[in-house]
Amino acid sequence: MARTRKVKGDSYGVIVAGGGFAGGTLALALAKLAPQGFRVALVDAAPQNPDSQKDVRGLALSAAAKSLLEAVGLWTKLAPDAQAVDSIEITDSPLNASLRPHFLGFDEEMKADAPRAFLVEAGNLFQAITQAVASDPSIDLFTPDSVTDYDVDAFGVRARLESGQTVSAPLLVAADGKRSRLREQAGIKCIGWSYPQTGIVVTVAHERPHLGRAVQHFLPAGPFAILPLMGNRSSIVWMEDEARTETLMQGDDEAFVAELTRRFGHRLGQITLEGPRQSFPLSFQMARSFVGDRLALVGDAAHVVHPLAGQGLNIGLRDVAALTETIVDTLRLGLDIGSATTLERYQRWRRFDSAFSGTVMDGLNRLFSNDSAPLRAIRDLGLGLVDRAPDLKRFLVREAAGATGDVPRLMKGEAL
Ligand SMILES: Cc1cc2nc3c(=O)[nH]c(=O)nc-3n(C[C@H](O)[C@H](O)[C@H](O)COP(=O)(O)OP(=O)(O)OC[C@H]3O[C@@H](n4cnc5c(N)ncnc54)[C@H](O)[C@@H]3O)c2cc1C
Repeated sequence: MARTRKVKGDSYGVIVAGGGFAGGTLALALAKLAPQGFRVALVDAAPQNPDSQKDVRGLALSAAAKSLLEAVGLWTKLAPDAQAVDSIEITDSPLNASLRPHFLGFDEEMKADAPRAFLVEAGNLFQAITQAVASDPSIDLFTPDSVTDYDVDAFGVRARLESGQTVSAPLLVAADGKRSRLREQAGIKCIGWSYPQTGIVVTVAHERPHLGRAVQHFLPAGPFAILPLMGNRSSIVWMEDEARTETLMQGDDEAFVAELTRRFGHRLGQITLEGPRQSFPLSFQMARSFVGDRLALVGDAAHVVHPLAGQGLNIGLRDVAALTETIVDTLRLGLDIGSATTLERYQRWRRFDSAFSGTVMDGLNRLFSNDSAPLRAIRDLGLGLVDRAPDLKRFLVREAAGATGDVPRLMKGEAL
């Protein structure tokens, strides 16, 4: 179903630029949870048609992210096809190893009243958001369109759109992804670098069931993840150096499956490709500020982290939950949601937390993505020690479930 433009007037509670996973979820959260009469202008540059959505990734979402998606009404649409992750296995070995011995596993720790993480297909998430946005009367959608520039005064933001329309609100949110134009226009610089790795993503079918087990093989070129999807299917996230990525992406299916099987192993029987391969450049990026004059950054516009632990969107959804809570609390007090005080609360909440997560992912990638035998010996000792420390393992599982730190209420299943 194509998204359509609805225009009812130019004054809004908030303008959200970018209707991807973070921006779309934020628009829905505010439309549902802010006091009655609050209207959202959602502007997205891409023509939003789920049928043309080609992203084949499986996205690992934490239990905390699931709580947010429940609160905004998306989870009921995703649940039938969401695969719970019931255990995790981590290995560290050279590419040619005949066996990939397991150094660290999360099995008992994953067993709780409810699963700690899920795999959701990117296409399903996109479709759920698109349909919910299109049918929400509190959201006016401007697409394909974008904010070309904006003025700020003591009362609000007036944004001009490429289509020639103008919209105004007390607050503008940049959810326009890692190359955020709004972040650039606001003069907010980033700290960042590109990784000499590319993420190859593909879905495979296999003969035997995965039993909800996610596997991460740390290989010298980078992590290789096998993430369980519904049915006898898994999503592969395979980091390789650029030269090998090119060969793999251009080779025929037979050659690709042969290389894939070398890393995947034979435990789940024969594997077959279930769709196209896609490749993603990888980078680390952290905005020096998550806020500007009447501007808040969420999702990849604020931070991009290495995908080795599947945390990028989880961190982005934490921004969404924290910003929604900040806005709703401020509206209830009758105060200005675009004021420096309100935005500072959001920034204090999210910036350090995101930078910390991004730095941990970066450090793990540097520690594991090499073929140094002494380093492998040290890190495998470390993994073995963690494996024997049940309290630490329980903490790590809670961290991956998004249950540690200052968790926004919507991510704890609490009402606003
Ligand atoms: C290989 C790989 C695997 C990953 N796996 C996981 C995982 O398992 N779990 C996880 O949590 N994260 C994962 N991530 C990270 C995750 O994909 C991102 O963090 C997430 O997609 C960011 O969402 P976003 O909405 O912030 O940005 P985007 O998805 O980039 O959306 C930005 C939106 O803004 C729109 N836009 C752009 N410019 C403009 C403009 N000027 N005006 C208006 N609109 C504009 C675009 O059309 C788009 O809709 C992975 C990343 C990679 C690369």
